[in-house]
Amino acid sequence: MATAIDSGSTSKHPKGLWVLFGTEMWERFNFYGMRAILTLFMVNSLLMKEEDASLIYGGFLGLCYLTPMLGGFISDRFFGNRNCILLGGVMMAIGQLLLFFSASVFGSNMGLANTLLWVALGIIIFGNGFFKPNISSMVGSLYPKQEKSKLDTAFTIFYMGINIGAFLGQFICPFLGDVKVDGVRDLHAFKWGFLAASMAMIIGTIVFLVLKNKYVVTPEGLPIGGLPSKNDSSDYEEGESQKAVFSTQALIGAVIGFVALFFSFRYMLDGSNIIKTVIYPVIYASGITLAGLIISDSSLTKVERDRILVIYIISFFIIFFWAAFEQAGSSLTFIADNQTDRNIFGWEMPASMVQIFNGIFVVALALPFSILWDKLRAKGREPLSPVKQSIGLAMIALSYFIIAHNVKDLGTAGLLGIGWLILLYLIQTVGELCLSPIGLSLVGKLSPKRFASLLYGVFFISNAAGYALSGTLGSILPATGDKFEKAQKLGVDLQGVLDKKIVPTAEQLKLLEDNQISANNPVFAGFEITNLFEFFMVFVVLCGVAALILFALTPRLKKMMHGVR
Ligand code: GLN
Repeated sequence: MATAIDSGSTSKHPKGLWVLFGTEMWERFNFYGMRAILTLFMVNSLLMKEEDASLIYGGFLGLCYLTPMLGGFISDRFFGNRNCILLGGVMMAIGQLLLFFSASVFGSNMGLANTLLWVALGIIIFGNGFFKPNISSMVGSLYPKQEKSKLDTAFTIFYMGINIGAFLGQFICPFLGDVKVDGVRDLHAFKWGFLAASMAMIIGTIVFLVLKNKYVVTPEGLPIGGLPSKNDSSDYEEGESQKAVFSTQALIGAVIGFVALFFSFRYMLDGSNIIKTVIYPVIYASGITLAGLIISDSSLTKVERDRILVIYIISFFIIFFWAAFEQAGSSLTFIADNQTDRNIFGWEMPASMVQIFNGIFVVALALPFSILWDKLRAKGREPLSPVKQSIGLAMIALSYFIIAHNVKDLGTAGLLGIGWLILLYLIQTVGELCLSPIGLSLVGKLSPKRFASLLYGVFFISNAAGYALSGTLGSILPATGDKFEKAQKLGVDLQGVLDKKIVPTAEQLKLLEDNQISANNPVFAGFEITNLFEFFMVFVVLCGVAALILFALTPRLKKMMHGVR
């Protein structure tokens, strides 16, 4: 990435960039603001188990990153970027409004509240699918061919917009929605958080609607991102040359492959939960099918195929990154809620707001990081992209290693200091900046033009797979302090039950179930997770091993990249 201040000032960027920046900022406000309070709402108001909330959350986020394939396709063939952004924005605003209604009716009508939740999440999934790929590709379209070198800077600015929005949303929505009165959570406040998210999306959509014709245009005033049939600004469009064309045979093969993979994953992820048996398999199978379809295309040269394989290898490893990173909205929020001392200078920070540190640190560190890469590049010492990505993975492992050692001696009643969670977010953000923007630009550099958007699709689906895995991993969070306390009040020795030293009566089991407490420790890959230390070590091992293998593969990847860094 280049910096926003090199090669002249940011004022040299087209004004349209700032319109996209503002639109994306409000959209991410809506998305991350909702994400902050969603799982707490599901657990506290809709009385779901944390385990189920984590699974749903992972499935929801995963689908949000699967639908961009569809959004990109529909935009390319039918509606164009602009219309898809508007459509996606309106859909997300409606989805948030339905969450507002769900959070308004839950006490008196649980059935309706649950239905509204599902419909809302469904609409947001498709809304995000229309919005996200189209706004990102419009950033690229703003620059004519001869100015593509400004793209890295443009994306740095855009990434800041994303995170300023995330920061604002993660402040306002928890501030309004995650409220405690005399230490007791006001379950009816969540709705205000969702309403604020909806308002943000409405503002974002209006900003885009009003300003697009004036600013999101070529210097000659032609619209960018209009209907595909009226492609007046070909000089500005990404991927204007050849498009990928697959034979009928290849497409039939892909369908058969998808079905076979779907059932294999379904078999592997057995369980009764529909998220695990349908949604996760769809996500995993889609990614592999699409990857297979592209790589088996006979028009590919050896160099192209090698480079695409690099994209696949990177995509595989980043699954572990997002799976660990995305604990922010589920298990880490539950820990912040139930076993953390959130006192900051006498003020108790709402549990859902703790995630805000990610956005704050991105905004603070994005520019210093791009300056760092520039300096290293000037000295010829900039690490190769896969090295940066393995550093990203190593950072995640380190962040969980530190936290694992801090929860080790907490027992069931001790509280984790909020400082440790802040440090975790700091280290994870450093990891994010080594991995996320780098990955996006690497895919652009390695993709043969005719497959570029499909390969971005594969890359996004690997994000989706990471989120699906994050759901599975979040669901193995063992009982936190509050559960033990609650069980004690109910007259059940939870530790004894979990250690299998006490056999609970049917009545006790029902009591636990009714109070959203599991009577068994979670199990992952055959290992029983008995405490928070073991839980965090799962991430240390997964990401640590991934970092090492990716690092070891680097010399080989370097060859396969054929000159691209
Ligand atoms: N936080 C970034 C965003 O919302 C990146 C997320 C991702 O790539 N998975 O756009």
